[in-house]
Amino acid sequence: MALIKTENLTLSYENMTVIKELSFEVNAGDYLCIVGENGSGKSTLVKALLSLKKPVDGTITFDGMLRREIGYLPQQTNAQRDFPASVSEVVISGCLNSRGIRPFYSLRERRIAAENMERLGITELKKRSYRELSGGQQQRVLLARALCATKKLLLLDEPVSGLDPMVTTEMYELISRINKENVTVIMVTHDMTAALKYASHMLCMTEESHFFGTIDEFIASDAADFMKGGAVRG
Ligand code: ADP
Repeated sequence: MALIKTENLTLSYENMTVIKELSFEVNAGDYLCIVGENGSGKSTLVKALLSLKKPVDGTITFDGMLRREIGYLPQQTNAQRDFPASVSEVVISGCLNSRGIRPFYSLRERRIAAENMERLGITELKKRSYRELSGGQQQRVLLARALCATKKLLLLDEPVSGLDPMVTTEMYELISRINKENVTVIMVTHDMTAALKYASHMLCMTEESHFFGTIDEFIASDAADFMKGGAVRG
């Protein structure tokens, strides 16, 4: 069974249908890139995967993981970049989903946070203020935070936006390494070159239709020609 499977998923705002009858699946170990024009419904789909938006029709099913076990890295806003907390506080807040109403973090949660800071090479930054870090360092911190919420699946919404090319490459290599460590990745991106380089599967959304398949199927499809025509914009 797939970790996540959607069948004929339809999502709307009031009377406006944004996504119609979308079916795709994500299996353990996959690296799925979601690409598409602005307004094609990528953010709306992310909300539905996070159970923040109810389908008007169709289903999203989870198997072998709980809905709340998604490690989510949201798109960054300028306000978030200025968040007043230390690196270790931001990272450990990824454990909040599983913490329930306990007022303090457990030893186990502190250990998970420390392990993920080590994994992403940010242990030496742990006492630093998050707002004083570079964009690339902040994204590492947020990735460590997302990993505190999951051992299974990362959902990344444009994780390299605003980063310079060298840091962007480092970030992609890091995500690829985590994927090879058996963490499934779903990434919303405008970066077709990176999607073609790293993804195992592609979900390509336009206002009219959707393509879902392996990367080789995508390359051979009309959807790839459409995207090459400049439909992907930042
Ligand atoms: P993308 O992430 O691909 O740019 P979105 O999911 O943000 O696309 O938007 C898809 C469509 O839904 C757009 O037409 C957008 O205007 C509309 N939309 C997005 N959020 C809302 C909302 N909260 N209320 C009403 N319409 C929305």
